[in-house]
Amino acid sequence: MHCKKAILILWATAAAAAGFSGASALKFTADAVAFGPRTPGSGALGELREYIRSNLKQCRCEVSEDAFTARTPAGPISMRNIIARFPGNSGRAIAVTGHYDTKVFRDFRFVGANDAGSSTGFLLELARVLAGAPRKDDVYLVWFDGEEAFGEWSATDGLYGSRHLAARWAADGTARRLKALINVDMIGDRDLAIAKDSLSSPVIGRLVWQVASDLGYGRHFLNQGTAVEDDHIPFARLGVPALDLIDFDYGPDNSWWHTEEDTMDKLSASSFQVVGDVVLETIRRLERQ
Ligand SMILES: [Zn+2]
Repeated sequence: MHCKKAILILWATAAAAAGFSGASALKFTADAVAFGPRTPGSGALGELREYIRSNLKQCRCEVSEDAFTARTPAGPISMRNIIARFPGNSGRAIAVTGHYDTKVFRDFRFVGANDAGSSTGFLLELARVLAGAPRKDDVYLVWFDGEEAFGEWSATDGLYGSRHLAARWAADGTARRLKALINVDMIGDRDLAIAKDSLSSPVIGRLVWQVASDLGYGRHFLNQGTAVEDDHIPFARLGVPALDLIDFDYGPDNSWWHTEEDTMDKLSASSFQVVGDVVLETIRRLERQ
């Protein structure tokens, strides 16, 4: 018993020391993309969900699903957010989120390597790293279903999963415990340039930009502004300090976004490494607050 515990601690220390691996995140992303188009309610998205859940078995975290039926322009569709909780003891919480569905396109095969393979793979690698470290705050990792709109983007078409979880976390008190929510989207582009989103929390934004500068990654975090409606919005509306990290400049004039050009060859391990190192260090600093 004692021996087994010692081995567990050794394993945990080694895993924590290893840190975030951009190469591993890229591999997780490739695995997700290999399931093909992963639209809400599809068999492929169900297979990806099983893949995520099987990887989380090793993370020593609590895994749950937030299941609901979304009313979409394409009719009712059953959706599931996946939630992994790494328990701390402070009573406070930090969430890192991203979506795992891909947008429906009928006229071409959309595999969404960056959108949303990258957020899917990024969170899986983060789960692998968090498994090895003791926590002060609860850390939630969330894979959102139904980020994409079925028709024209609107207040009621898009952000299905995040709107559902925000309502649930408002009701059960989790939202009030959140020090920060950091959403990642399209962070695998080999030409990584993240602009400051004006719809995000300025306080969390300053912290993340400071961390990036301290780690020598400042050139990837631009001072230029942007405004992006993404999965952070339903939480920001609740007063949660929420930040969106998105590189919404994918290919010449963003021409790879939502096209058949969004493929694995456009991504790089080093971009995942940058965002992974920054998010992990941000979690560390938030836990000290
Ligand atoms: Zn998209």
